[in-house]
Amino acid sequence: MIARVVIAALLGVLTWTFLEYLIHRWMGHDRRFRRTPFGVEHVRHHAEGDYFAPTWKKLAIAAVVVLLLSAPAMAVAGSGPGIAYVAGLMGFYGVYEVIHRREHTHPGFGPYGRWARRHHFYHHFVDGRMNHGVTSPLWDFVFRTYRQPGIIKVPPRLCMSWLKDPRTGDVAAEHAHTFVLGASPKA
Ligand SMILES: [Zn+2]
Ligand SMILES: [Zn+2]
Repeated sequence: MIARVVIAALLGVLTWTFLEYLIHRWMGHDRRFRRTPFGVEHVRHHAEGDYFAPTWKKLAIAAVVVLLLSAPAMAVAGSGPGIAYVAGLMGFYGVYEVIHRREHTHPGFGPYGRWARRHHFYHHFVDGRMNHGVTSPLWDFVFRTYRQPGIIKVPPRLCMSWLKDPRTGDVAAEHAHTFVLGASPKA
């Protein structure tokens, strides 16, 4: 039973990573979905850089997903694994929200922090058709939208505060080998 609960929770996490990719790539970047509520919020996130959709909207959608998903998940997998699946999915959704926001507000640390900031800001500032994964590159590999970032040009207007040296207004020395300020062809 415990093994089934753990596997169900991990499947929930995996499901979120797929939804993260799917929602971002198609709802966020396919022109057919530009006018949907998610599309509108995502265009604004790209245009303003430090804009995130209001928390109440995210919580409302999360509550609806939990309500809709719990009964079918429990019917299919049994009550323990069903709840674990939904908890894994929604728990990792919460992790995604924290990681995405911190990518914008903090430089991150360690190999994961270095990977995350380059992967996500390649998407923001170099090519919005690539690197849709925010917490992992898994589905970018699967759908062949993974790009290894070179030096990323960040438009000065959208420059993250952690990237800037406050004394010079330019990119801080520790990031100068991966980021420069300048006009970007696609944002
Ligand atoms: Zn972002
Ligand atoms: Zn995007």
